Amino acid sequence: MPKMRRKNLLALLFAAFFGLSFASSSALVRIVFDGDTVQLQTGEKVRYLGIDTPEMGDVPEFMAEEARQLNRRMVAGKRVRLEFDRESEDRHGRKLAYVFLENGDMVNILLLQKGLAHILAPGPDLKYFSLFLENQRKAMKEGVGIWSREDARDPVFGNTRSFIFHRPECDRGKETSKRNRKFFSNRISAFWEAYHPCRICKP
Ligand SMILES: [Zn+2]
Repeated sequence: MPKMRRKNLLALLFAAFFGLSFASSSALVRIVFDGDTVQLQTGEKVRYLGIDTPEMGDVPEFMAEEARQLNRRMVAGKRVRLEFDRESEDRHGRKLAYVFLENGDMVNILLLQKGLAHILAPGPDLKYFSLFLENQRKAMKEGVGIWSREDARDPVFGNTRSFIFHRPECDRGKETSKRNRKFFSNRISAFWEAYHPCRICKP
């Protein structure tokens, strides 16, 4: 029955349109705080999803200023498209998003490519995870940005559920059950597998 089919098609288009409009939105960036956090014209804050850039803090971490500068050049005063994943907000009420420039490039990936961010994922279940890992590994091989420095050779261990890695003596790390521990000979090997450092023991 053609009539029925047309109705189904309309319903499908309707669903696709609204599905898309919920999944992404366009916005103007007003302030760039650091490599991975901005404020929109609307006042809302956005934290780039799936990555972490060096912290500015009182004493900026290695490459923090470079990450902020690059982010500023890419998005300050510009219109961007925000795309969301399963988790669209963090516990501070910031939007968690993949941020796209007008030319279609994703800022999260550009930061990884320059070695100015590393992956921050609670396990490899984010939609762009493989693409992120591919780009991070490329930057690691090239030794750009945060990967340009001689790195510590001390062993660390990761939690296979949280994807956080710790120093062997970290109390938080010791809470990891034995079967969820993964040992790495150094930090770089942990980063290579998309693990990110513990904020307490700072391995
Ligand atoms: Zn730790």
